[in-house]
Amino acid sequence: MNYVIIGAGPAAVAAAEKLRVLDSDGHITMIGAQAQQPYSRMAIPYYLTGKVEESGTYLRRSSDHFQNHRIDLVRGEATAVDAAEHKVMLGDGSAIDYDKLLIATGAEPIIPPVSGMDDPRVQQCWHLEDAERIIELAKPGARAVQVGAGFIGCIILESWVLREVDLTVVEMGPRMVPRMLGEKAGDLLKTWCESKGVTVHTGTTVGSIESSENELNVVLDNGNAYPSDVVIVSTGVKPNVGFLQDVDINIDLGIEVDEFMQTSVVDIYAAGDCAQGLDFSTGETAVHAVQPTATEYAWPCDVFFRSLGGCRRG
Ligand SMILES: Cc1cc2nc3c(=O)[nH]c(=O)nc-3n(C[C@H](O)[C@H](O)[C@H](O)COP(=O)(O)OP(=O)(O)OC[C@H]3O[C@@H](n4cnc5c(N)ncnc54)[C@H](O)[C@@H]3O)c2cc1C
Repeated sequence: MNYVIIGAGPAAVAAAEKLRVLDSDGHITMIGAQAQQPYSRMAIPYYLTGKVEESGTYLRRSSDHFQNHRIDLVRGEATAVDAAEHKVMLGDGSAIDYDKLLIATGAEPIIPPVSGMDDPRVQQCWHLEDAERIIELAKPGARAVQVGAGFIGCIILESWVLREVDLTVVEMGPRMVPRMLGEKAGDLLKTWCESKGVTVHTGTTVGSIESSENELNVVLDNGNAYPSDVVIVSTGVKPNVGFLQDVDINIDLGIEVDEFMQTSVVDIYAAGDCAQGLDFSTGETAVHAVQPTATEYAWPCDVFFRSLGGCRRG
């Protein structure tokens, strides 16, 4: 059996290793677009604060781990899937045949439609490369504005406090982590942040970011403005499914899967942040990736859905 996995994050690595346990003879190929060894984004906060080096973010420590498990790690970007021919097309023009395909391409940050977001001092915090750039920009004493205080935003927030930056957080919801915390817990978190010297604005948005050679000026809709050296954007993510545009596969916000992680296309499965499946706690389907909901965002819904790009299909 020829198993191909697109992605080299936690979902892909866990699946590849489990496949090896279940099928000792199968041929397993894992395709990853990133330059580094498979790594965990969850370790990025530790990398930001110097608790681990880059290698400390790797999902498996030994450099020959995948070789030892006879998992072929191919560096490349999947650009298309030919479901009829059972082929994955890569950016370099080559193709890889599969009998069974798992899509585990994760998610990518959503960048809000706000002017000035394209300045190189405005950073998302999703890839190791982002973390490297932030380490350069967010030196102790630097002025930083974080846009978004959702789940991931609050995980990375502690890193800026530990890096001793002068931090302002802007969250458009009525409290911090609005989708997960109630009013009381959200207020407790805000009080804790303020006790660490962080300025927190809730219930307002960033209207624009003005760039000059020496600094950025982050203008909030509530009238405040913050000169800053770096802006960190953490405003939700969208599943990575654009390369499936020519496949007749059911995609809502993520790739729809049944309870066996099987998609609507025979021999194709999906897992991790790119998948949308049954949430056993609610009985409803949900995308695994952390996403904003249209109602939480003050931008008009059509702008929000357009920002989701290729992941929303009719
Ligand atoms: C700073 C930070 C902290 C976090 N902390 C937590 C936490 O504490 N708890 C928690 O539950 N979650 C946390 N998360 C979220 C968590 O990291 C994700 O839910 C998790 O990484 C999802 O795993 P995944 O394998 O589905 O996708 P990813 O980890 O995103 O991996 C996707 C993989 O697919 C590859 N890929 C994408 N497109 C292609 C393509 N076209 N061709 C080939 N390869 C492709 C990528 O290179 C990558 O290897 C955090 C995220 C961040 C950024």
